[in-house]
Amino acid sequence: MRFFVPTDMRIGRGIVSDSADRLAALGSRCLIVTGKRSAAACGALADMAAALDAAGVAYAQYDGIGQNPTVESCRAAGDAAAQFGAEYIVGIGGGSPLDAAKAAAVFAGNPALDDASLFTYAWPQRILPVVCVGTTAGTGSEVTPVSVLTNAAGRKQSIRDDRLYPALSLGDGRYLRALPEHFLRSCAVDAAAHCVESYFNRNHTDVSRIFALRGLEILRPLFEKMRDSGTQSLTDADRERLYLASIYGGYAISVTGTAFPHALGYYLTESHSVSHGIACGVFLPAFLRHSRQCEPAAAVRLETVTGYGIQAWIALLDAVMPPCGVRLTAEQMDALQVRYANNSGIARSPGEINAQTLYAILTEVYAK
Ligand SMILES: [Zn+2]
Repeated sequence: MRFFVPTDMRIGRGIVSDSADRLAALGSRCLIVTGKRSAAACGALADMAAALDAAGVAYAQYDGIGQNPTVESCRAAGDAAAQFGAEYIVGIGGGSPLDAAKAAAVFAGNPALDDASLFTYAWPQRILPVVCVGTTAGTGSEVTPVSVLTNAAGRKQSIRDDRLYPALSLGDGRYLRALPEHFLRSCAVDAAAHCVESYFNRNHTDVSRIFALRGLEILRPLFEKMRDSGTQSLTDADRERLYLASIYGGYAISVTGTAFPHALGYYLTESHSVSHGIACGVFLPAFLRHSRQCEPAAAVRLETVTGYGIQAWIALLDAVMPPCGVRLTAEQMDALQVRYANNSGIARSPGEINAQTLYAILTEVYAK
């Protein structure tokens, strides 16, 4: 059993403004990596700029990270960091800027690296330390050693390495106020997916299960509130709990990785631009039913701790999740079976998933 998460994770109101000393301790120059709008819109960028000013840290910003970040954009951010003489990188945003900040830290420390070497972990030089400021509540990237990127072929490809753990991660539930209803719902479903996929994962440990169960326990009443009254009814305290649950999901998958909902969901994001949480969420009912069959005792424990049966969880997720709206043809499903023949995310799922099971899962989802 191993539990290794060397990230200084801090959550609380005003935590970014209170972190000047911690930021100063990481160096005197940094690059802030963001998308175009959200880091500024939620107030996190202004808080970080003020904290860096107070710390006497010089900074520049790279705001060219899009959804599902490309290796190219991470390289550009890494080059910008190297040019600026940054000693560390601050990622602000949802999963995309946070994952991009990790890859940019690799490129900044290893300017001659080619794309292939990024994915084979042949990084001869030290990578820059990373600070993550999460402004959504789903990714868990703040406490994982994972960066999910889009490669030159347009496919999702991850890097996972202990060197990618952020040095410091900061979360303030108030940043979630700026999220549109359907995006917050999608993020919340992603957080639930991380907990569920980790809980029933073949790589689970006692520790990862504790985080996964606690994450679901926290999410349940928040999901009920979103189902009954929408995300606008969430208070700042609710948003902080939602954020905390997403971090518990992150701790859980830092041990186990995800399972088939994420593996299959990547295809929907690549090919149909479905947002990440929804893309994974459409496979969660099938995953929950499949897992209950393979791991009945674990399913009972989940039901007891969270106070919700598997079927009730499926109904709750369905009520909270925005519709996916994608249907696949028989030919596309056949192609998916080939693509996923040796997929590690599928292999981490409980039980045996052969071509027949996979086809049944795809049919269950797309015959709706
Ligand atoms: Zn996810």
